[in-house]
Amino acid sequence: MLNGERLISRPIRWAMVGGGRTGQVGYKHRTGALRDNTAFELVAGAFDIDAERGKDFGVNIGVPENRCYPDYQTMFAEEADREDGIDVVSIATPNATHYDICKAALEADLHVICEKPLFFTTEEAQFIKELAEEKGKIVGVTYGFSGHQLLLQMRAMIEQGKIGDVRVVDLQYTHGFCATDEGDQKNDAQKWRVDPKVAGPSFVLGDLSTHTYYMSQLILPHMKIKKLLCDRQSFVGSRAPLEDNAHVLMHYDNGAVGTMWTSSINAGCMDAQRIRIVGSKASLEWWDSRPNELRYEVQGEPVQTMIRAMPYLDESCNADERLGALHAEGLSESWANIYLKFAMAIDAKDRGDKETLKNLVYPDIDTGLEGVRWVENCVRSADQGAVWVDFE
Ligand code: NAD
Repeated sequence: MLNGERLISRPIRWAMVGGGRTGQVGYKHRTGALRDNTAFELVAGAFDIDAERGKDFGVNIGVPENRCYPDYQTMFAEEADREDGIDVVSIATPNATHYDICKAALEADLHVICEKPLFFTTEEAQFIKELAEEKGKIVGVTYGFSGHQLLLQMRAMIEQGKIGDVRVVDLQYTHGFCATDEGDQKNDAQKWRVDPKVAGPSFVLGDLSTHTYYMSQLILPHMKIKKLLCDRQSFVGSRAPLEDNAHVLMHYDNGAVGTMWTSSINAGCMDAQRIRIVGSKASLEWWDSRPNELRYEVQGEPVQTMIRAMPYLDESCNADERLGALHAEGLSESWANIYLKFAMAIDAKDRGDKETLKNLVYPDIDTGLEGVRWVENCVRSADQGAVWVDFE
Protein backbone atom coordinates (compact mmCIF):
# COMPACT_ATOMS: atom_id res chain seq x y z
CA MET A 1 0.00 0.00 0.00
CA LEU A 2 1.27 3.45 -0.89
CA ASN A 3 0.79 6.39 1.46
CA GLY A 4 3.05 9.08 0.01
CA GLU A 5 6.04 8.37 2.25
CA ARG A 6 9.49 8.87 0.79
CA LEU A 7 10.70 5.93 -1.34
CA ILE A 8 13.73 7.72 -2.83
CA SER A 9 16.29 9.98 -1.18
CA ARG A 10 14.99 13.29 -2.59
CA PRO A 11 12.26 14.44 -4.97
CA ILE A 12 13.47 14.42 -8.55
CA ARG A 13 13.77 17.85 -10.18
CA TRP A 14 11.28 17.68 -13.02
CA ALA A 15 10.45 19.84 -16.05
CA MET A 16 7.88 19.61 -18.82
CA VAL A 17 8.02 20.39 -22.52
CA GLY A 18 4.47 21.08 -23.72
CA GLY A 19 1.44 20.22 -21.65
CA GLY A 20 0.61 23.92 -21.28
CA ARG A 21 -2.67 25.78 -20.86
CA THR A 22 -4.28 24.43 -24.02
CA GLY A 23 -2.67 20.97 -23.95
CA GLN A 24 -4.97 18.01 -23.40
CA VAL A 25 -2.59 15.70 -21.60
CA GLY A 26 -0.40 18.04 -19.51
CA TYR A 27 -2.54 17.98 -16.38
CA LYS A 28 -2.55 14.18 -16.35
CA HIS A 29 1.25 14.27 -16.14
CA ARG A 30 1.12 16.71 -13.25
CA THR A 31 -1.54 14.78 -11.32
CA GLY A 32 0.64 11.70 -11.74
CA ALA A 33 4.05 13.16 -10.96
CA LEU A 34 2.97 15.47 -8.14
CA ARG A 35 0.60 13.09 -6.38
CA ASP A 36 3.24 12.39 -3.72
CA ASN A 37 5.50 15.36 -3.13
CA THR A 38 8.24 12.89 -2.25
CA ALA A 39 8.69 11.72 -5.87
CA PHE A 40 8.96 14.78 -8.16
CA GLU A 41 9.03 18.55 -7.87
CA LEU A 42 8.08 20.65 -10.89
CA VAL A 43 10.82 23.27 -11.12
CA ALA A 44 10.94 24.32 -14.78
CA GLY A 45 9.16 24.12 -18.10
CA ALA A 46 8.88 25.11 -21.75
CA PHE A 47 5.16 24.52 -21.57
CA ASP A 48 3.90 25.93 -24.83
CA ILE A 49 4.76 26.55 -28.46
CA ASP A 50 3.63 30.12 -27.66
CA ALA A 51 6.41 31.31 -25.34
CA GLU A 52 4.44 34.10 -23.62
CA ARG A 53 1.41 31.90 -22.95
CA GLY A 54 3.75 29.18 -21.70
CA LYS A 55 5.43 31.53 -19.25
CA ASP A 56 2.12 32.91 -17.98
CA PHE A 57 0.84 29.37 -17.51
CA GLY A 58 4.02 28.19 -15.77
CA VAL A 59 3.94 31.06 -13.28
CA ASN A 60 0.25 30.35 -12.63
CA ILE A 61 0.98 26.76 -11.63
CA GLY A 62 3.79 27.86 -9.33
CA VAL A 63 6.95 27.47 -11.43
CA PRO A 64 9.51 30.28 -10.83
CA GLU A 65 9.27 32.86 -13.64
CA ASN A 66 12.97 32.63 -14.51
CA ARG A 67 12.58 28.89 -15.06
CA CYS A 68 9.61 29.20 -17.48
CA TYR A 69 11.55 29.03 -20.74
CA PRO A 70 10.59 30.11 -24.26
CA ASP A 71 11.66 26.76 -25.78
CA TYR A 72 13.19 23.44 -24.79
CA GLN A 73 16.63 24.22 -26.25
CA THR A 74 17.00 27.26 -23.96
CA MET A 75 15.70 25.25 -21.01
CA PHE A 76 18.17 22.40 -21.47
CA ALA A 77 21.11 24.84 -21.89
CA GLU A 78 20.25 27.09 -18.94
CA GLU A 79 19.27 24.30 -16.57
CA ALA A 80 22.61 22.57 -17.28
CA ASP A 81 24.39 25.62 -15.83
CA ARG A 82 22.51 25.47 -12.51
CA GLU A 83 23.63 23.46 -9.52
CA ASP A 84 19.99 22.62 -8.86
CA GLY A 85 19.22 22.00 -12.55
CA ILE A 86 16.55 19.57 -13.73
CA ASP A 87 17.12 15.79 -13.62
CA VAL A 88 14.32 14.72 -15.95
CA VAL A 89 11.96 16.15 -18.54
CA SER A 90 8.52 15.00 -19.62
CA ILE A 91 7.57 15.50 -23.26
CA ALA A 92 3.85 16.21 -23.75
CA THR A 93 3.89 17.67 -27.26
CA PRO A 94 2.45 16.43 -30.59
CA ASN A 95 3.98 13.23 -31.96
CA ALA A 96 6.26 14.71 -34.63
CA THR A 97 8.29 16.60 -32.01
CA HIS A 98 9.01 13.65 -29.67
CA TYR A 99 12.16 12.38 -31.37
CA ASP A 100 14.03 15.70 -31.57
CA ILE A 101 13.14 16.71 -28.01
CA CYS A 102 13.98 13.28 -26.64
CA LYS A 103 17.35 13.25 -28.39
CA ALA A 104 18.18 16.77 -27.22
CA ALA A 105 17.21 15.88 -23.64
CA LEU A 106 19.43 12.79 -23.56
CA GLU A 107 22.29 14.76 -25.10
CA ALA A 108 21.80 17.25 -22.27
CA ASP A 109 22.21 14.34 -19.81
CA LEU A 110 18.59 14.26 -18.73
CA HIS A 111 16.31 11.33 -18.05
CA VAL A 112 13.22 11.41 -20.28
CA ILE A 113 9.55 10.61 -19.87
CA CYS A 114 7.81 10.80 -23.23
CA GLU A 115 4.31 10.57 -24.61
CA LYS A 116 3.13 7.80 -26.89
CA PRO A 117 3.27 6.96 -29.73
CA LEU A 118 6.94 7.41 -28.98
CA PHE A 119 8.30 8.04 -32.51
CA PHE A 120 7.46 7.42 -36.16
CA THR A 121 9.94 4.58 -36.87
CA THR A 122 11.60 1.71 -35.03
CA GLU A 123 14.97 3.01 -36.28
CA GLU A 124 14.38 6.21 -34.32
CA ALA A 125 13.33 4.24 -31.24
CA GLN A 126 16.38 1.97 -31.51
CA PHE A 127 18.67 4.99 -31.81
CA ILE A 128 17.15 6.61 -28.71
CA LYS A 129 17.42 3.34 -26.78
CA GLU A 130 21.13 3.16 -27.59
CA LEU A 131 21.66 6.82 -26.76
CA ALA A 132 19.90 6.37 -23.40
CA GLU A 133 22.09 3.36 -22.63
CA GLU A 134 25.24 5.28 -23.55
CA LYS A 135 24.16 8.21 -21.35
CA GLY A 136 23.02 6.02 -18.43
CA LYS A 137 19.50 7.46 -18.50
CA ILE A 138 16.02 6.01 -18.51
CA VAL A 139 13.30 6.75 -21.05
CA GLY A 140 9.80 6.16 -19.68
CA VAL A 141 6.65 6.16 -21.81
CA THR A 142 3.33 7.45 -20.46
CA TYR A 143 0.95 4.62 -21.21
CA GLY A 144 -1.33 6.32 -18.71
CA PHE A 145 -3.87 3.55 -18.14
CA SER A 146 -1.26 0.92 -17.39
CA GLY A 147 -0.96 1.93 -13.73
CA HIS A 148 -4.40 0.52 -12.93
CA GLN A 149 -3.64 -2.16 -10.37
CA LEU A 150 -6.04 -4.83 -11.55
CA LEU A 151 -3.91 -5.27 -14.66
CA LEU A 152 -1.22 -6.66 -12.36
CA GLN A 153 -3.86 -8.94 -10.86
CA MET A 154 -4.57 -10.26 -14.37
CA ARG A 155 -0.86 -10.77 -14.94
CA ALA A 156 -0.49 -12.67 -11.66
CA MET A 157 -3.56 -14.86 -12.19
CA ILE A 158 -2.52 -15.83 -15.71
CA GLU A 159 1.02 -16.61 -14.50
CA GLN A 160 -0.49 -18.78 -11.71
CA GLY A 161 -2.52 -20.77 -14.25
CA LYS A 162 -5.90 -19.50 -12.99
CA ILE A 163 -7.37 -19.36 -16.51
CA GLY A 164 -5.43 -22.27 -18.00
CA ASP A 165 -3.68 -21.88 -21.35
CA VAL A 166 -4.29 -18.54 -23.04
CA ARG A 167 -6.29 -19.01 -26.24
CA VAL A 168 -7.82 -15.66 -27.21
CA VAL A 169 -6.67 -12.08 -26.58
CA ASP A 170 -9.57 -9.73 -27.30
CA LEU A 171 -8.60 -6.05 -27.24
CA GLN A 172 -10.59 -2.92 -27.96
CA TYR A 173 -10.01 0.80 -27.65
CA THR A 174 -12.75 2.81 -29.35
CA HIS A 175 -14.76 5.99 -28.97
CA GLY A 176 -17.11 7.96 -31.19
CA PHE A 177 -15.76 11.49 -30.80
CA CYS A 178 -14.49 11.63 -34.41
CA ALA A 179 -17.59 10.17 -36.06
CA THR A 180 -17.72 13.35 -38.18
CA ASP A 181 -14.98 15.71 -39.35
CA GLU A 182 -16.23 18.58 -37.17
CA GLY A 183 -13.38 18.31 -34.67
CA ASP A 184 -10.79 18.02 -37.46
CA GLN A 185 -11.69 21.60 -38.42
CA LYS A 186 -12.25 23.16 -35.01
CA ASN A 187 -10.14 21.39 -32.41
CA ASP A 188 -6.38 22.05 -32.52
CA ALA A 189 -5.51 18.76 -30.78
CA GLN A 190 -7.64 16.85 -33.28
CA LYS A 191 -6.32 18.74 -36.36
CA TRP A 192 -2.76 17.50 -35.89
CA ARG A 193 -3.91 13.95 -35.13
CA VAL A 194 -5.13 13.54 -38.73
CA ASP A 195 -2.12 15.25 -40.32
CA PRO A 196 0.52 12.60 -41.19
CA LYS A 197 3.32 15.18 -40.91
CA VAL A 198 2.53 15.64 -37.21
CA ALA A 199 0.72 12.46 -36.19
CA GLY A 200 2.97 10.00 -38.05
CA PRO A 201 1.92 6.96 -40.08
CA SER A 202 -1.38 6.37 -38.26
CA PHE A 203 -4.22 8.01 -36.39
CA VAL A 204 -6.14 5.62 -34.09
CA LEU A 205 -3.58 2.80 -34.24
CA GLY A 206 -0.97 5.10 -32.67
CA ASP A 207 -3.27 7.35 -30.70
CA LEU A 208 -5.44 4.68 -29.07
CA SER A 209 -4.36 1.11 -29.66
CA THR A 210 -0.75 1.56 -28.50
CA HIS A 211 -2.17 1.92 -24.97
CA THR A 212 -4.16 -1.30 -25.13
CA TYR A 213 -1.38 -3.17 -26.88
CA TYR A 214 1.06 -2.21 -24.10
CA MET A 215 -1.43 -3.32 -21.44
CA SER A 216 -1.78 -6.68 -23.18
CA GLN A 217 2.00 -7.06 -23.02
CA LEU A 218 1.99 -6.11 -19.35
CA ILE A 219 -0.58 -8.82 -18.66
CA LEU A 220 1.00 -11.41 -20.97
CA PRO A 221 4.73 -10.71 -20.79
CA HIS A 222 5.72 -14.07 -22.27
CA MET A 223 3.49 -13.97 -25.35
CA LYS A 224 4.83 -12.51 -28.56
CA ILE A 225 2.99 -11.78 -31.80
CA LYS A 226 4.19 -13.93 -34.70
CA LYS A 227 1.98 -12.56 -37.50
CA LEU A 228 -0.73 -9.98 -37.88
CA LEU A 229 -3.25 -8.72 -40.40
CA CYS A 230 -4.54 -5.17 -40.22
CA ASP A 231 -7.47 -3.70 -42.13
CA ARG A 232 -7.77 0.07 -41.75
CA GLN A 233 -10.24 2.64 -43.11
CA SER A 234 -10.68 6.39 -43.23
CA PHE A 235 -14.44 6.66 -42.93
CA VAL A 236 -14.03 10.42 -42.92
CA GLY A 237 -12.33 10.62 -46.31
CA SER A 238 -10.33 13.76 -45.65
CA ARG A 239 -8.32 11.80 -43.06
CA ALA A 240 -6.82 9.42 -45.63
CA PRO A 241 -4.28 7.90 -45.57
CA LEU A 242 -4.66 7.99 -41.79
CA GLU A 243 -7.27 5.60 -40.46
CA ASP A 244 -10.10 6.40 -38.10
CA ASN A 245 -10.98 2.71 -37.73
CA ALA A 246 -8.94 -0.49 -37.80
CA HIS A 247 -9.28 -4.18 -37.05
CA VAL A 248 -6.19 -6.27 -36.39
CA LEU A 249 -5.96 -10.08 -36.22
CA MET A 250 -2.98 -11.55 -34.40
CA HIS A 251 -1.32 -14.96 -34.18
CA TYR A 252 0.89 -15.45 -31.12
CA ASP A 253 3.93 -17.69 -30.81
CA ASN A 254 2.15 -20.03 -28.33
CA GLY A 255 -0.75 -20.73 -30.70
CA ALA A 256 -3.12 -18.17 -29.18
CA VAL A 257 -4.99 -15.74 -31.42
CA GLY A 258 -6.00 -12.14 -30.85
CA THR A 259 -7.97 -9.21 -32.16
CA MET A 260 -7.75 -5.45 -31.68
CA TRP A 261 -10.55 -3.08 -32.69
CA THR A 262 -9.51 0.52 -32.52
CA SER A 263 -11.74 3.33 -33.69
CA SER A 264 -12.66 6.97 -33.20
CA ILE A 265 -15.87 6.62 -35.26
CA ASN A 266 -17.69 4.21 -32.93
CA ALA A 267 -20.66 6.61 -32.91
CA GLY A 268 -22.37 6.94 -29.56
CA CYS A 269 -19.49 5.33 -27.68
CA MET A 270 -18.06 7.58 -24.98
CA ASP A 271 -15.12 5.30 -24.14
CA ALA A 272 -14.64 1.58 -24.64
CA GLN A 273 -11.25 0.21 -23.76
CA ARG A 274 -11.55 -3.45 -22.97
CA ILE A 275 -9.22 -6.38 -22.44
CA ARG A 276 -10.59 -9.91 -22.38
CA ILE A 277 -8.22 -12.85 -22.05
CA VAL A 278 -9.78 -16.23 -22.72
CA GLY A 279 -8.03 -19.29 -21.34
CA SER A 280 -8.74 -23.02 -21.53
CA LYS A 281 -10.49 -22.95 -18.10
CA ALA A 282 -11.65 -19.40 -17.54
CA SER A 283 -11.59 -15.81 -18.79
CA LEU A 284 -10.62 -12.44 -17.33
CA GLU A 285 -12.16 -9.17 -18.48
CA TRP A 286 -11.35 -5.55 -17.55
CA TRP A 287 -12.69 -2.22 -18.82
CA ASP A 288 -10.89 1.07 -18.23
CA SER A 289 -14.26 2.73 -17.55
CA ARG A 290 -14.67 0.37 -14.55
CA PRO A 291 -11.06 0.11 -13.42
CA ASN A 292 -11.93 -1.07 -9.90
CA GLU A 293 -13.54 -4.28 -11.14
CA LEU A 294 -12.13 -7.41 -12.74
CA ARG A 295 -14.44 -10.14 -14.00
CA TYR A 296 -13.25 -13.70 -13.46
CA GLU A 297 -15.41 -16.16 -15.34
CA VAL A 298 -14.70 -19.83 -14.68
CA GLN A 299 -16.47 -22.13 -17.11
CA GLY A 300 -19.47 -23.73 -15.36
CA GLU A 301 -19.29 -21.52 -12.25
CA PRO A 302 -20.99 -18.26 -11.25
CA VAL A 303 -19.19 -15.18 -12.57
CA GLN A 304 -17.00 -13.43 -9.97
CA THR A 305 -16.31 -9.71 -9.85
CA MET A 306 -13.03 -9.08 -8.08
CA ILE A 307 -12.83 -5.64 -6.48
CA ARG A 308 -9.72 -3.47 -6.15
CA ALA A 309 -7.97 -3.27 -2.77
CA MET A 310 -9.36 -6.49 -1.34
CA PRO A 311 -7.02 -8.82 0.58
CA TYR A 312 -7.77 -11.73 -1.76
CA LEU A 313 -5.86 -9.98 -4.56
CA ASP A 314 -2.23 -10.70 -5.41
CA GLU A 315 0.49 -8.88 -3.47
CA SER A 316 1.87 -7.38 -6.70
CA CYS A 317 -1.52 -5.77 -7.35
CA ASN A 318 -2.12 -4.46 -3.83
CA ALA A 319 1.41 -3.02 -3.65
CA ASP A 320 0.12 -0.13 -5.81
CA GLU A 321 -2.98 0.42 -3.69
CA ARG A 322 -3.51 3.96 -2.37
CA LEU A 323 -7.01 4.76 -1.15
CA GLY A 324 -8.17 1.48 0.37
CA ALA A 325 -11.30 -0.56 -0.20
CA LEU A 326 -14.63 1.31 -0.02
CA HIS A 327 -13.22 4.11 -2.20
CA ALA A 328 -12.94 4.18 -5.97
CA GLU A 329 -9.61 4.86 -7.66
CA GLY A 330 -9.28 6.15 -11.20
CA LEU A 331 -7.05 7.53 -13.92
CA SER A 332 -5.17 9.93 -11.61
CA GLU A 333 -4.05 7.06 -9.39
CA SER A 334 -3.05 5.10 -12.49
CA TRP A 335 -0.82 7.97 -13.65
CA ALA A 336 0.55 8.39 -10.12
CA ASN A 337 1.53 4.71 -10.03
CA ILE A 338 3.39 5.00 -13.32
CA TYR A 339 5.14 8.21 -12.35
CA LEU A 340 6.20 6.75 -9.00
CA LYS A 341 7.82 3.89 -10.89
CA PHE A 342 9.56 6.36 -13.22
CA ALA A 343 10.94 8.10 -10.09
CA MET A 344 12.16 4.80 -8.66
CA ALA A 345 13.73 3.85 -12.00
CA ILE A 346 15.53 7.19 -12.29
CA ASP A 347 16.77 6.94 -8.70
CA ALA A 348 17.94 3.34 -9.24
CA LYS A 349 19.66 4.24 -12.52
CA ASP A 350 21.51 7.13 -10.87
CA ARG A 351 22.64 4.84 -8.03
CA GLY A 352 23.64 2.03 -10.40
CA ASP A 353 21.13 -0.27 -8.66
CA LYS A 354 20.66 -2.92 -11.37
CA GLU A 355 18.64 -5.26 -9.13
CA THR A 356 15.86 -2.69 -8.57
CA LEU A 357 15.79 -1.84 -12.26
CA LYS A 358 15.51 -5.51 -13.21
CA ASN A 359 12.49 -6.06 -10.97
CA LEU A 360 10.64 -2.80 -11.64
CA VAL A 361 7.69 -3.27 -14.01
CA TYR A 362 7.03 0.03 -15.78
CA PRO A 363 6.63 1.32 -19.35
CA ASP A 364 10.26 1.77 -20.38
CA ILE A 365 11.99 2.44 -23.72
CA ASP A 366 11.47 -1.17 -24.84
CA THR A 367 7.70 -0.76 -24.47
CA GLY A 368 7.87 2.50 -26.41
CA LEU A 369 9.86 0.79 -29.14
CA GLU A 370 7.34 -2.07 -29.17
CA GLY A 371 4.48 0.43 -29.61
CA VAL A 372 6.21 1.93 -32.65
CA ARG A 373 6.83 -1.59 -33.99
CA TRP A 374 3.12 -2.42 -33.52
CA VAL A 375 2.03 0.61 -35.57
CA GLU A 376 4.64 -0.04 -38.26
CA ASN A 377 3.55 -3.65 -38.72
CA CYS A 378 -0.16 -2.77 -38.74
CA VAL A 379 0.37 -0.05 -41.36
CA ARG A 380 2.56 -2.35 -43.49
CA SER A 381 -0.15 -5.02 -43.49
CA ALA A 382 -2.98 -2.58 -44.17
CA ASP A 383 -1.16 -0.79 -46.97
CA GLN A 384 -0.51 -4.07 -48.80
CA GLY A 385 -4.29 -4.66 -48.83
CA ALA A 386 -4.85 -6.17 -45.37
CA VAL A 387 -2.57 -9.18 -45.72
CA TRP A 388 -0.88 -11.35 -43.09
CA VAL A 389 2.65 -10.13 -42.37
CA ASP A 390 5.36 -11.50 -40.09
CA PHE A 391 5.68 -9.31 -37.01
CA GLU A 392 9.11 -7.75 -37.57
P1 NAD B 1 -2.34 19.15 -27.62
O1 NAD B 1 -2.30 19.61 -29.02
O2 NAD B 1 -3.61 19.29 -26.83
O3 NAD B 1 -1.21 19.89 -26.76
C1 NAD B 1 0.12 19.98 -27.19
C2 NAD B 1 0.87 20.91 -26.26
O4 NAD B 1 2.24 20.96 -26.66
C3 NAD B 1 0.37 22.37 -26.27
O5 NAD B 1 0.46 22.86 -24.96
C4 NAD B 1 1.39 23.06 -27.21
O6 NAD B 1 1.49 24.44 -26.98
C5 NAD B 1 2.65 22.34 -26.82
N1 NAD B 1 3.75 22.35 -27.80
C6 NAD B 1 3.72 21.97 -29.09
N2 NAD B 1 4.96 22.05 -29.63
C7 NAD B 1 5.78 22.46 -28.63
C8 NAD B 1 7.17 22.73 -28.54
N3 NAD B 1 8.00 22.56 -29.59
N4 NAD B 1 7.67 23.17 -27.35
C9 NAD B 1 6.85 23.33 -26.28
N5 NAD B 1 5.54 23.08 -26.30
C10 NAD B 1 5.01 22.65 -27.47
O7 NAD B 1 -1.87 17.64 -27.65
P2 NAD B 1 -2.22 16.50 -26.57
O8 NAD B 1 -3.53 15.90 -26.89
O9 NAD B 1 -1.95 17.00 -25.21
O10 NAD B 1 -1.12 15.41 -27.02
C11 NAD B 1 0.25 15.59 -26.76
C12 NAD B 1 0.92 14.22 -26.78
O11 NAD B 1 0.35 13.42 -25.74
C13 NAD B 1 0.69 13.43 -28.06
O12 NAD B 1 1.83 12.69 -28.36
C14 NAD B 1 -0.46 12.49 -27.74
O13 NAD B 1 -0.44 11.31 -28.49
C15 NAD B 1 -0.20 12.23 -26.27
N6 NAD B 1 -1.39 11.91 -25.46
C16 NAD B 1 -1.28 10.91 -24.58
C17 NAD B 1 -2.32 10.61 -23.72
C18 NAD B 1 -2.12 9.52 -22.71
O14 NAD B 1 -3.09 9.04 -22.13
N7 NAD B 1 -0.89 9.13 -22.45
C19 NAD B 1 -3.51 11.33 -23.79
C20 NAD B 1 -3.59 12.38 -24.71
C21 NAD B 1 -2.51 12.67 -25.54
